[in-house]
Amino acid sequence: MPKRPFRVGRSRTGLGLFATEPIKKRTLIAYYVGQRISTAEAERRENKGARYLYELNKHWTIDGKSRRNLARYANHSCRPNAESDVVKGQVTIRAIRNIKPGEEITYDYGEDYLRNVIGVSRCKCDKCRAKRAKAQRERRLKAKRAAARKKRLNGHANGKAR
Ligand SMILES: [Zn+2]
Repeated sequence: MPKRPFRVGRSRTGLGLFATEPIKKRTLIAYYVGQRISTAEAERRENKGARYLYELNKHWTIDGKSRRNLARYANHSCRPNAESDVVKGQVTIRAIRNIKPGEEITYDYGEDYLRNVIGVSRCKCDKCRAKRAKAQRERRLKAKRAAARKKRLNGHANGKAR
């Protein structure tokens, strides 16, 4: 693979991968590499808190905990700009759209991971943050309207409203 088009840097959730040059859609960004272990071994490690397990299929998992596995720094997003795939037993991280320098490289870890590890309500990706901010704005607006309504009703009760 040519020179890496990314660097490891600070992200919202710890470390992350950031593009250092334009990355064209479909470009192979990195391989997710590590020791290949059986499903049973993966379960043992998972119970002991292993965090970088990538399930290849029902028999095999890659433990990508090594720091040399730079792909492990790519964070989850519900609106990602890359995707992971298993090609001939190797895990690839590939751009699914053009990525600009400075953009964080993310891929979707999948429903199971989001539900069981991150927790749907705790996902810090841009999409989820925007969704929560919107919900909060709506809650505030609703509370404001309710307060205004209450004030009006009180006004009527006290005979002050005209
Ligand atoms: Zn999310």
